Amino acid sequence: MAAESVERFTCQRCGACCRVPGYVRVTDEDCEALAALLGVSVEAFIAEETDLAPARTGLVLKGEPNAPCRFLTAENLCRVHSAAPKQCRDYPARWRSEAIEAVCAANRREQP
Ligand code: SF4
Repeated sequence: MAAESVERFTCQRCGACCRVPGYVRVTDEDCEALAALLGVSVEAFIAEETDLAPARTGLVLKGEPNAPCRFLTAENLCRVHSAAPKQCRDYPARWRSEAIEAVCAANRREQP
């Protein structure tokens, strides 16, 4: 993604990216931050909130791949925003996908 496009990206808080089918990968650091935010041990967080990623390539947040993220609220807010996983924080500057580009309100917005 061009730097110019990232600078013009303004999240519309539609929650669409948190509903795109797929997985939210969590790193060791993500698990530590999320556990601290939720007030549970890292072990409890991993047991209660994560599953093994497909092909056992790490951990993902628990949930069906076609379901909204378990931390997305009815108001389209991230319940763990201050400790959001790296995958979430890296969008759109470090990664994008056709599925997200198709639904992202910021990308669909008319650019000046
Ligand atoms: S952790 Fe938060 S930002 Fe990431 S997909 Fe879930 S609701 Fe969205």
